[in-house]
Amino acid sequence: MVELHEVKNNMKSRLFIGIDIGGTKISGGLADETGKIIVRDKIATPLDAKPSEILFIVTKLINSLSSGSKIVAKNIAGIGIGVPGIVNTKKGKIVATPNVDLAGFDLVKKITKKFRTRVSIGNDVNLGLLGEYWFGAGRRVKNIIGLFPGTGVGGAAIVDGKLLLGAKGAATEFGHLIIDTHGPECSCGNRGCLEAIAGRWAIERDIRAAVKAGRESALIDICKSDLAVIKSKALKEALARKDELTTEVMEKAADALGFACVSLRHAFDPALIIFGGGIIEACAGFILPMVRKIVDDDPFFAKVSRCKIVESELKDDAVILGAVALAQEGLGIKAGEIKANPSVCMVLKDDSVLIDGKTYNRGVCIRVNCKVKKRPKKFSEEKEISEQELRKFCKKKPEVFIIAYRDALPVLSEQAQIFLKEKKINAKILPLSPAIDLYNETTSKKAILVI
Ligand SMILES: [Zn+2]
Repeated sequence: MVELHEVKNNMKSRLFIGIDIGGTKISGGLADETGKIIVRDKIATPLDAKPSEILFIVTKLINSLSSGSKIVAKNIAGIGIGVPGIVNTKKGKIVATPNVDLAGFDLVKKITKKFRTRVSIGNDVNLGLLGEYWFGAGRRVKNIIGLFPGTGVGGAAIVDGKLLLGAKGAATEFGHLIIDTHGPECSCGNRGCLEAIAGRWAIERDIRAAVKAGRESALIDICKSDLAVIKSKALKEALARKDELTTEVMEKAADALGFACVSLRHAFDPALIIFGGGIIEACAGFILPMVRKIVDDDPFFAKVSRCKIVESELKDDAVILGAVALAQEGLGIKAGEIKANPSVCMVLKDDSVLIDGKTYNRGVCIRVNCKVKKRPKKFSEEKEISEQELRKFCKKKPEVFIIAYRDALPVLSEQAQIFLKEKKINAKILPLSPAIDLYNETTSKKAILVI
């Protein structure tokens, strides 16, 4: 983790904190408006943690992400929190949380009071999809379904650019879509739910039952004879070994997911279905082609253009960035419309520069394509900034080229000045802090050279 020290007050770009509360750990990130995570951290949660303990850990994490209250007070524009369970996002209330002890606990009010900034809260799966919608695989797609098979099967939907929450905040529990009315019993009390067939707990149940009945399986070897928990990675390995039992059970799971997608398509007509979760991270190569085939074969949609089915882009960061997006939505920022902003850049107290979480205390350049390049020694030893150097750093022709200096005002060689004029590049030479401010505020094609 990068330590931020004390950021000077010249930081204009708004920063947000996203928190992902899970059953075993709480993770978080400090991100800018464009969804770039600058600092990240996580803290393990004790088993059966009480609400006050969870509050303590979340507070500690926010403090750690912002390295003390200085950034929080001055620069954190909002905090978003993802919680596993039913959450009333509009009212900021936690209604029911089967896996963590937070139901009825006023986390939003307590965090707001501690950090004096706006705090928003949402269901973690919903936020995972919101993250993908703003910053990941779902950018600029207004109608998306998210399916996340892990231990259970999480679901979420973006309809006309908005998360579908329902009357009580409990909509889109697609894991409990009933796929087989005579199917196995589900943890929710119904029969034949999607997750009772395709969740990892259901896959484990089927494999254990088959092994108990005498079937052979490579999983016995992979899991060292202990089938109490069969991790997604073990399933992946068994599939790679072409284990017959695993293939059979996973085909059944993929089949259920495929037909769930068909039904979801009939209900929502999404342009995109995003798959994430532990099972997909390990076994996407096996599951997604089957799902795509089932969806493509739906005769009802034969004459309609295809619905794309893709894997999550943000993976473990999805909930954190969804929480950041929720915090931004709370402020009325339409992050999806913010132009792809180049790298996050700020000046630290010792005059070193922080770019995307890395500290640079000597020459560095951010080119138009956001690539960060250290300034070669041969250039820094020269008295003047040469045409050769400008050519190197002005690739893809910036409209604005900012030169930031720490000590003496730099001099451009005659050839360098002609080059800028010919290419119609607007060059600005400024001391470090105003130069970085200008870089962060400029929305046109830009590059910066810090010398
Ligand atoms: Zn169920």
